[in-house]
Amino acid sequence: MLKQKLERIKKVFDTPNLAKEFHPVPKVFKGKEPKKSTLGPGKKTTQWEGERAKLIEEFANMDITSCEIKFEGCWKNNALGFAHIDKRKNLRPEDLPSVVLACTPCHQTVEAWNNIRMRKFLLEIIKKRNESL
Ligand SMILES: [Zn+2]
Repeated sequence: MLKQKLERIKKVFDTPNLAKEFHPVPKVFKGKEPKKSTLGPGKKTTQWEGERAKLIEEFANMDITSCEIKFEGCWKNNALGFAHIDKRKNLRPEDLPSVVLACTPCHQTVEAWNNIRMRKFLLEIIKKRNESL
């Protein structure tokens, strides 16, 4: 049962978001060593990748499989991602689990707001969700 739910939500997350996922591969010419980057993923990114996998499972457990923001023009369960309660640069490790499941248009709308408004709005959704669980 849970496994099925997990498969379902994973499928939703597999929906490719070409705007974010398109990584063109530069052509490497013969005789030239491909440039090696010494920059690994940032600490926050790595931390978030692990957190993200956990969150997908948690959200499946809570039966949350579509956008929680639901503005007009919401894509519901298409192109879902997690909206953080703060801008990425201000994010503290303890904030990482505080996220709202959001479709791309809804996510973009709240991202365009200032920090305070976005944080308040998203925390309210999390609070309401916890109350109804
Ligand atoms: Zn939405």
